[in-house]
This record gives sequence, structure tokens and C-alpha cells, in this order.
Amino acid sequence: MDYVVIHELCHLVHMNHSEKFWTLVSSFCPEWKRIRKELNYND
Ligand SMILES: [Zn+2]
Repeated sequence: MDYVVIHELCHLVHMNHSEKFWTLVSSFCPEWKRIRKELNYND
């Protein structure tokens, strides 16, 4: 699964960008900070 898919799936659980949301993203994709920057993905 790539970062964007993980991000959108996590939005099904948390409909926001709260700390809990990013903790969940991290559990699937620990590299999310770097990938998000590389993709220039702002959502
Ligand atoms: Zn988002």
C-alpha cells in the first residue's frame, strides 16, 4: 500500500488530521513525513 492509500484509509477512521490520525498513519507507514514531502501531498 502506498502512502496516499494509507492516508485515505486512515480518514475512514479519523475524519481529521488529529494526533490520533497521524499516529494511525505512522503505524502503517512510519516514513510518512518524508513521503508526504516528496509527493507534495497536502491533504
Ligand atoms: Zn488527510
